Amino acid sequence: MAHRVDTLLTNAHVLTLDDQFTAWPSGAVAIRDGAIVAVGALNGEYQAAETMDCRGRVVMPGLINAHTHAPMTLLRGLADDLRLDVWLMGYMMPVEREFVTAEFVELGTGLACAEMIRSGTTCFADMYYFEESVARAAAAAGMRALCSQTVLKFPAPDAASFEDSLERARDFIVRWKGHPLVVPAPAPHAPYTCTTEILRACAELAVEFGVPLHTHLAETTFEVEQSRREHGMPVVPWVSKQRLFDARVLAAHCVHVDEGEMTALKKAGAGVAHNPTSNLKLGSGIAPVVKMLERGVMVGIGTDGTASNNDLDMFEEMRLAALLAKGVSGDPTALPARQAVAMATRIGARATHFGALTGSLEAGKRADLIVVDLDQVHNVPRFARDPHAVYSQLVYAGKAGDVVDVMCDGKWLMRDRRLLTLDEAELARAARDVARRIDAFLIRREQSVLQKLVAIGGAAEQESFEIQVKARLASPDAVDRALEDDEITVLRKVHYHQFDTYFFFDDPAQGRLRYREDEFLDDQGKVAGARARLTLTGPSREAAFGSVLLFRSRFFAPATHSPRFYREYFRPARERTIEKDRRRWLVAYRGVQFYVHVDRLLDPPADTCFVEVKSRTWSRRDAQDKAAIVTELLARFGGRPDDTIEEGYADR
Ligand SMILES: [Zn+2]
Repeated sequence: MAHRVDTLLTNAHVLTLDDQFTAWPSGAVAIRDGAIVAVGALNGEYQAAETMDCRGRVVMPGLINAHTHAPMTLLRGLADDLRLDVWLMGYMMPVEREFVTAEFVELGTGLACAEMIRSGTTCFADMYYFEESVARAAAAAGMRALCSQTVLKFPAPDAASFEDSLERARDFIVRWKGHPLVVPAPAPHAPYTCTTEILRACAELAVEFGVPLHTHLAETTFEVEQSRREHGMPVVPWVSKQRLFDARVLAAHCVHVDEGEMTALKKAGAGVAHNPTSNLKLGSGIAPVVKMLERGVMVGIGTDGTASNNDLDMFEEMRLAALLAKGVSGDPTALPARQAVAMATRIGARATHFGALTGSLEAGKRADLIVVDLDQVHNVPRFARDPHAVYSQLVYAGKAGDVVDVMCDGKWLMRDRRLLTLDEAELARAARDVARRIDAFLIRREQSVLQKLVAIGGAAEQESFEIQVKARLASPDAVDRALEDDEITVLRKVHYHQFDTYFFFDDPAQGRLRYREDEFLDDQGKVAGARARLTLTGPSREAAFGSVLLFRSRFFAPATHSPRFYREYFRPARERTIEKDRRRWLVAYRGVQFYVHVDRLLDPPADTCFVEVKSRTWSRRDAQDKAAIVTELLARFGGRPDDTIEEGYADR
């Protein structure tokens, strides 16, 4: 007598993707209570409530997107062709701080699930904020997901501090652990966005609840160089030292890992997510995937977020993974199609720590599978001689649109290309709405240098007023002599090398931005320390008292990025760099404190030197009083006030 099952798929080209790559050119899959009961010839052994004839079609495990940020579908195409830091710190993070809410995350994940189901993905590993909303949307769509709550050292859209986000992660894990589709996890964002305390706390949390830990590792050479500089070792040993691998880790990228690090990843049982499109698009490099696989590291394939891809198409990622491995090695036998399909299924399941549940079509595993139509014109004809040919068809000719039916956990999510759990039209409408609001926000922000500064701030705006007067001097000796005078008290004195980069904008009302690096020099003239600051100077002088000028500036200190970052982020119309030797005194004269600067221009070089006297001020009245004294002080230095000398000696 035949056994009763819920669903029977018959006459299919079944690719089980088990360890032996068992395939059945005309096979069947029997499913009961959401699990696979049997796979094979199954001649009349099973009777099903629903039987589906899959003639001419491939039945295979659902694809596993091993690394993504699902809600970022709502940021798709927002800012492209930028460097990683400008893209992340200049655009993604500021927009996320402004717009990302639980509702945003749920909507974006719904949109992502629709796209993933359409392209044959049944399981994904996510990392984002408000991760509980990702979990809710994934479960509602019927998809399997590793949902990882981001923890990082900066304030995040869902947490003011890392303690808050850690608490959020714990709370989320407690409530979702044991869910049939969702596995909750902590996600320390990356070594460079986390403190050692965060890395350790997240690993402890994952161990405490027996859940995986999801992170980004060794994505760029910059990250590796920074790790070597700051910790004296590359990224993998560093996080290992912080006991990260006490947890079952899923590490996205691993683009720049050496052989020792690969061995460490293997020993730690860590999974790796290879994200070929994202790594190419952000110019991060190409991960040594073949070497990692040879060493037994579980390397799955991911799309990364749609802001760096810009889609969630796993067929495209499989193809790229196979092609890149050949391109970089010069070896066309590297990473054959069959292995690419395994990375997107069985190996990906192990990398994301879902190996016991999904990734292959084997009795006992959950019924996560897809039906692919290989009779589309781009896939015709087909050859039966080589049993591997079907994998090449999927990888080199197949397209996401060839997926016709999708089942996850025994439930149909798509039949005949119609989504059963999601309302695509409604999702698209709501997404367009969000995009309109983000557009308006960025258009407004991009018009103001000050607002762009605030967006990447960290440091708060600090407005200050100062009066200043400048003069040219044939020699600085007069200043040195005058400072020995009894009426002037020297309170402090420093000597440094100053490198100024001025950014000018087409609209003079924006003011100008100065990136300044100081190298402090000791008595022997050796560099004893350094600092970098960013200052936005108001568009023009606020007032003038004779040749003494009143300026307003807004300080943002310290500058945490490179001049290159600021150049690419602010896109100034013009730029000028000035290098000078500066001696600076803080002096008291007639009861008021003044700064005295004596500058010698090194680049571009100048014959004369300059003296500048300045003082902070609080009111117009105060400014007027001090203006008289600075003029007097300048006269003692033998200087004639010259209000045509620009700040920093840069032209407007
Ligand atoms: Zn990522």
